[in-house]
Amino acid sequence: MDASVIVAGAGPTGLMLAGELRLAGVDVIVLDRLRERTGESRGLGFTTRTMEVFDQRGLLHRLGDMGTSNAGHFGGLPVDFGVLDSIHQAAKTVPQSDTETMLEEWARELGADIRRDRDLIALHDHGDHIEVVVRGPGGEEGRLAAHYLVGCDGGRSTVRKAAGFDFPGTAATMEMYLADIKGVDLAPRLIGETYSGGMVMSGPLGDRGVTRIIVCEHGTPPRRRTEPPSYAEVAAAWQRITGIDISHAEHEWVSAFGDATRLATEYRRGRVLLAGDAAHIHLPAGGQGMNTGIQDAVNLGWKLASVVLGTAPEALLDTYHGERHPVGERLMMNTKAQGLLFLTGDEIQPLRDVLKELIHYEEVSRHLAGMVSGLEIRYDVGPGRHPLLGLRMPHLELVGDRRKTSSTELLRAGRGMLLDLEDNAVLRDRAAGWSHRVDLVTAEPHGVPAGSPLADTSAVLVRPDGHVAWAAPGSHHDLPMALERWFGPSRIQQS
Ligand SMILES: Cc1cc2nc3c(=O)[nH]c(=O)nc-3n(C[C@H](O)[C@H](O)[C@H](O)COP(=O)(O)OP(=O)(O)OC[C@H]3O[C@@H](n4cnc5c(N)ncnc54)[C@H](O)[C@@H]3O)c2cc1C
Repeated sequence: MDASVIVAGAGPTGLMLAGELRLAGVDVIVLDRLRERTGESRGLGFTTRTMEVFDQRGLLHRLGDMGTSNAGHFGGLPVDFGVLDSIHQAAKTVPQSDTETMLEEWARELGADIRRDRDLIALHDHGDHIEVVVRGPGGEEGRLAAHYLVGCDGGRSTVRKAAGFDFPGTAATMEMYLADIKGVDLAPRLIGETYSGGMVMSGPLGDRGVTRIIVCEHGTPPRRRTEPPSYAEVAAAWQRITGIDISHAEHEWVSAFGDATRLATEYRRGRVLLAGDAAHIHLPAGGQGMNTGIQDAVNLGWKLASVVLGTAPEALLDTYHGERHPVGERLMMNTKAQGLLFLTGDEIQPLRDVLKELIHYEEVSRHLAGMVSGLEIRYDVGPGRHPLLGLRMPHLELVGDRRKTSSTELLRAGRGMLLDLEDNAVLRDRAAGWSHRVDLVTAEPHGVPAGSPLADTSAVLVRPDGHVAWAAPGSHHDLPMALERWFGPSRIQQS
């Protein structure tokens, strides 16, 4: 074997996955067909949940100062994301290329073997291992073998096609434009403004005087382009919709995108897995694609590592599809709904008006914000009545070992964590057989607000991805059963 895992694609999904695998001590080769990063940024910023995920791995400080805000939208209708229960707000000003640079540095520091100018062109599943055919810088072909292959190679994924995954959905119905321009004074339209001719957005991109514009003109048919559109096309569409002439602006980057919506029916076929855009494509509404890819990677990384390292049975890998495919289904649903709201014409106005009224109800805002930010995600971790079961562990300040820490900080190493909040020696004893995989931490909670689901909690088992796998009181499974399900057999029972 050349590596335990080969990851195809060094986009945000592949890089996050490489970092997660290395954190768990798994050797990984990442292949990317590009000689170097393009520096282009489709995404700008990330959601509250990705802020939390980066925080739990200690990555936020690497991105420096960033503009954050609770101002969000659903299909162009303003939603206050401050209704979410998180210590973080969404990041709004971090170009995707900065996020990728940060993730690449982190993954390399952890020892990921990232090989550029390597195009994966074919794969062979030999049952007990995977072999990939890779075209190198001089056009030469070579072969690499690994136990598992993960396709993080974007919407047109070679891995997905070569491994025979189905990718059903709907084709693009229209083409939209994106341009980063300089030398025009445009008022920010961060939430889409709808006009009779279509929808536009504009906003500052960093602090270099660059403005990002998005133009969605009704009736623009989808096109399969081999080259990006000209800036003149984009400026003409902008003018037809808004009446404003921006044709004199300098342009740094122009691109076209569509609203094709497709979801792989399986996220795993034997030794091949898919994550990120390789598994799901959709209209970029509400900035969710990169976030979902990063969170796919965080769900998959520790599971794949456990299976590769032999500490958990292979069945753990099936929970990756079981947990993330429903997330993909909701992503398809909500981006389609958002597209209907902001890409259609006056016939939808009554529906927009009704929704605008509904959004005034906090419960409705929380539902929509939770869906778009990823904070609503609840995995099936077994029966019980504890309100946090399956949800992500909220940030909890702790005092343990006479020092302050937090549930977020304790996840930095990417290990499982049993938080014993009542100094319960019996509980710790029951978990001792998993101490090679799970940190047993006795600590006192600090500043838990009354009414919080953590207020009466005596212990919580948190998976490496930050989701609550068991909590007391309230879980119907007993602790050893939960530990075995997520972390494999106890070492004490084995010996
Ligand atoms: C206009 C627009 C705006 C967007 N805004 C946002 C936003 O604000 N927030 C958000 O979360 N998302 C946004 N997205 C979506 C986001 O850009 C994608 O979801 C994200 O890039 C997916 O990451 P990925 O790593 O899965 O795939 P990609 O970023 O596509 O990376 C795939 C990588 O695989 C490599 N590759 C491909 N084929 C091969 C091969 N055969 N061999 C080797 N390497 C290969 C590619 O070179 C590339 O580096 C937006 C998208 C668009 C179009």
